[in-house]
Amino acid sequence: MAKSNKGKIGVTTENIFPVIKQFLYSDHEIFLRELVANAVDASRKMQALAANGDFTGELGTLNVSIDLDEKHKTLSIIDRGIGMTEEEVDKYINQIAFSSAGEFLEKYKDKIDSIIGHFGLGFYSAFMVAEKVTIDTLSWKDGAKAVKWSCDGSPEYEMSEGSRTERGTTITLHLDKESAEEYGNKARIRQLLEKYCRFMPVPVVFGKKQEWKDKKYVDTDEDDVINNVEPLWTRQPSELKDQDYLDFYKALYPMHEDPMFWIHLNVDFPFHLTGILYFPKIKERMAIEKNKIQLFCNQMFVTDHVENIVPDFLTLLHGVLDSPDIPLNVSRSYLQADAAVKKISGYITKKVADRLEEIFKEDRPALEQKWDNIKLFIEYGMLSDEKFGDRAMKFALVKDTEGKFYSLDEYKEAVKEAQTDKDGNLIMLYATEPESQYSFISAAKSKGYSVLHLDCELDSHYVNFLETKLEKTRFARVDSDAIDKLIVKEEHVKPELSEEEKTDLTDLFKAVLPQGNDYIVEADNLGADSDPILLTQNEFMRRYREMSALGGGMNFFGSAPASYNVTVNMEHPLVAKLFEEKKALELPEDKEARKTAVGEYAKGSDLVRLVTDLALLSNGLLKGQDLSDFLSRCSKALGQAYLK
Ligand code: ADP
Repeated sequence: MAKSNKGKIGVTTENIFPVIKQFLYSDHEIFLRELVANAVDASRKMQALAANGDFTGELGTLNVSIDLDEKHKTLSIIDRGIGMTEEEVDKYINQIAFSSAGEFLEKYKDKIDSIIGHFGLGFYSAFMVAEKVTIDTLSWKDGAKAVKWSCDGSPEYEMSEGSRTERGTTITLHLDKESAEEYGNKARIRQLLEKYCRFMPVPVVFGKKQEWKDKKYVDTDEDDVINNVEPLWTRQPSELKDQDYLDFYKALYPMHEDPMFWIHLNVDFPFHLTGILYFPKIKERMAIEKNKIQLFCNQMFVTDHVENIVPDFLTLLHGVLDSPDIPLNVSRSYLQADAAVKKISGYITKKVADRLEEIFKEDRPALEQKWDNIKLFIEYGMLSDEKFGDRAMKFALVKDTEGKFYSLDEYKEAVKEAQTDKDGNLIMLYATEPESQYSFISAAKSKGYSVLHLDCELDSHYVNFLETKLEKTRFARVDSDAIDKLIVKEEHVKPELSEEEKTDLTDLFKAVLPQGNDYIVEADNLGADSDPILLTQNEFMRRYREMSALGGGMNFFGSAPASYNVTVNMEHPLVAKLFEEKKALELPEDKEARKTAVGEYAKGSDLVRLVTDLALLSNGLLKGQDLSDFLSRCSKALGQAYLK
């Protein structure tokens, strides 16, 4: 080699460095990850050469050390890897695939966000923070000479014979003014190493461990190793215990409650993927934490934004994924369309379904016990991912109001006989708030029907979904109509009323029911033992209102006033009496005047108020002043009855 050798770096874009600085501005910090990753690669290659018998000399410790000189603002990354010969520096550093990097930047300059490794720009990311970079390297090859390379950020480099005597490479960054403040600081470098290098496969050393001595911290002799070189996901599931998985979870998420289940992923073909996914406890939507999955590439941390890489519902899981096959050099929106990513995300979805099905078959009590905390995840998955939805039909559970769990098939079998209506439709009844829907639930139970307890926020969507999947099956909330009208067993004979009587009935109840809602008043025969008045909310109107409140379009329903059906039970003695009373009134001919007169009668009638208040009460709609008036009237009436 000539004593000193100057040249121009083979870059087609005249000046790549400003480009690097400009486009990758937001993510300057990744320079350290890129340089440490190169050092780790070089060390692993050395290990491989030794293992193959190609290298028989002294291997030494293959640590990667990070050295920060806070005073001179230089940062060095030192390895004992394979090093580079002069030809290699020329090939990999000078002539590096920079033409393609230039093209790449041109093409993606609008879209590129955050990830720059893996297209041969790793080393040059050093120039995002350094005004000068030097390489001191000595190749492992017999007879190799040390090389020294330096570049001050212009496309010109200098190369000369180096003085290094030990195999390996030292990359030294002379931090530029702007970066010196941020990266010339031990705490910041430690933070970056912990973020990006925590699980790299070769020990990364940052100074010495410290101890408290003579009232201050002093260095000990022991290297401070940043990383765990053999993280749990790289080990064989067969050699791991539950506690290992729980400990690893704690290490990843120190503030979290223990997870409920986990899946250890390990596949070599047709792509490489390892990882551990944990099911956290999910109680309510507000508490959901997305983006807790960390993505690695050969144990190098890449990102914790895995959206576009795994289906949306899986971002509710926690844990780590490690795959060198997820392309990181393309814009993130492009990822979704990538064939490898599609395969990987399909595989993960399948594994998650497999695991849940396995728990369903082999450890049903555990699934039941944890169901309330994972059902939101499972329902979300079923609603958003068709394949998962089909799989989950097998293991999704439902719970009745007594707390008993069933699979969907089991439940269908259990209620088929009693709850099939005259048209052959199976009606599945459900309650969302058993406390306030108590009277409806007991009416259903007295008929020998079962009532499901659905209290998940997604249930209105979920129930729609199940209706499309289960043949001839409909869902009805138990308070959405009189029970005999929800499950119609035989032709029903309605009372015969004239148009005028129907109008009177409507005007009569509308006058005393709370204002601001819509009411559809209808006379019916529900039997002498049923309630006099039944206030119900139409299943479909209610469901659409709930779905639009959750954000499913259909906003017309969300803003419409609540609509109730008022069923007047003509077979009830109180109603019969009331109807007699009304008949006896002398009502005017004129429609408007008649309406007013009926209203006045209703407002003044204790009987009308009693039957409507009872109906409101069983729907939890009697509140405040109305409730207190009702109670005082009751106690008065009861008092009179006793004192008679
Ligand atoms: P990439 O790592 O993506 O190939 P880089 O620009 O980071 O791109 O590095 C280019 C090449 O330079 C590497 O592939 C490797 O051959 C060589 N190289 C970089 N750093 C080292 C190192 N510390 N030891 C040995 N070779 C290195």
